[in-house]
Amino acid sequence: MKFKKTLLIEMIVIGPPVVIVDEIVEHNRWAVRHRMIFQHHGRFYETKYRVPATELQDEQPYDAEPDEIECPEVWPISKKVTVYEKLPLIEHGKNCPKVLHVGPGYLHGDDDDTPYGIDGIAYCGRCHWTLA
Ligand SMILES: [Zn+2]
Repeated sequence: MKFKKTLLIEMIVIGPPVVIVDEIVEHNRWAVRHRMIFQHHGRFYETKYRVPATELQDEQPYDAEPDEIECPEVWPISKKVTVYEKLPLIEHGKNCPKVLHVGPGYLHGDDDDTPYGIDGIAYCGRCHWTLA
């Protein structure tokens, strides 16, 4: 869908709630490029614009663009994100996750949290991980 350049500039100035996302996608010596997602009549559209990286440059967003700018429709899609965070210090045999014994075949007692060995490798009696 095409949008007037003046309307898009107005959105940049106003920001939320019309603008859903305005993120910097590239920052080089001369320009900062943005990707903006905005809402229009319950639908979402994407546009990209650039602003000068320094105050010395006389440039406005969409300066080199025509008066009407094609903005593709986009859809909000939720994604699962995996993050890696530090956990509290785990001490094997004390506060590591206790593995319950299910069935036979264990080489140590269910209530024995002390290390045990198999083929010269030491394992934690609680979580059954190898111990370094
Ligand atoms: Zn452990």
